[in-house]
Amino acid sequence: MHVIHTAREMHEWSLAQRAAGKKIGFVPTMGYLHRGHLELMKFQRARCDVLVASIFVNPTQFGPGEDFGAYPRDLDRDTALATEAAVDCLFFPAVAEIYPPGYRTYIDVELLSDTLCGAHRPGHFRGVCTVVAKLFNIVAPDEASFGEKDAQQLRIIRKMTEDLNVPVKVLGFPTVREADGLAMSSRNVYLTPGERAQAIALYRSLGRAQTLAAGGETDTASIIEQMRTLITSDAPAAQIEYIEAVDDATLQPVTRLEGPTLIAMAVRVGKARLIDNVLVDRNKEQADARG
Ligand code: AMP
Repeated sequence: MHVIHTAREMHEWSLAQRAAGKKIGFVPTMGYLHRGHLELMKFQRARCDVLVASIFVNPTQFGPGEDFGAYPRDLDRDTALATEAAVDCLFFPAVAEIYPPGYRTYIDVELLSDTLCGAHRPGHFRGVCTVVAKLFNIVAPDEASFGEKDAQQLRIIRKMTEDLNVPVKVLGFPTVREADGLAMSSRNVYLTPGERAQAIALYRSLGRAQTLAAGGETDTASIIEQMRTLITSDAPAAQIEYIEAVDDATLQPVTRLEGPTLIAMAVRVGKARLIDNVLVDRNKEQADARG
């Protein structure tokens, strides 16, 4: 596996692969790799000739007082894991390589960035879009894969590539979970054993939402209320930042479950801010049930 630190070398490596007729797949990450990242990499690896992964803890997507400094980092471990996942090239730039002094350009995707995490982390998606656009230009991949765990991020990146005519196919990949259902995340390392046990309440509340929807409940306020009750009783350490039901395409709140609806949440458990979501599509379920 090649490890590359500069944008120029990375771009040259990719151009050489393209000249050789290779299809390039790309998985951007912030490192501290876990099985969610590795399965995402294996998925993308199987679809292309060469796989590039990046590790970059992007300062512009962290707000003041957030965990940029504390975010877990372990390059030696990540290098070993990326090698096992058959990554061909690991791009690991320094902050000054991506944002040299005098850097001035940012990308905002309107509307989709206003709700869910965007409402609680001002500027977060501006930072995400900016770094992903830069990484796309540097790596010049044919395809790039992103996890559904970060559902809003995936939808915003899809919109950005569409709006800016970026010639990269953006793919989504299902959330990889621990055996008990907790969505894998680099931030799970912040949880104490007691908090880890309580964190399962997020997944259970999403299961409750699905059960209610399958039983015919269409009032999103009622579903959200029952999710809140479950989390509050099962996880006293949890502080709910938001639970929302939004239209899957526009990410704007909906009062009824009609078309595809994303039920998404951010919950603080101790030092960890955990996010999770489920896509509920009653029309599809009814059609599936009819066969
Ligand atoms: P991160 O390092 O957290 O920025 O994540 C890098 C990529 O991995 C993003 O596309 C995430 O959505 C994806 N990812 C993170 N956790 C998971 C998971 N548990 N399952 C699937 N994809 C994930």
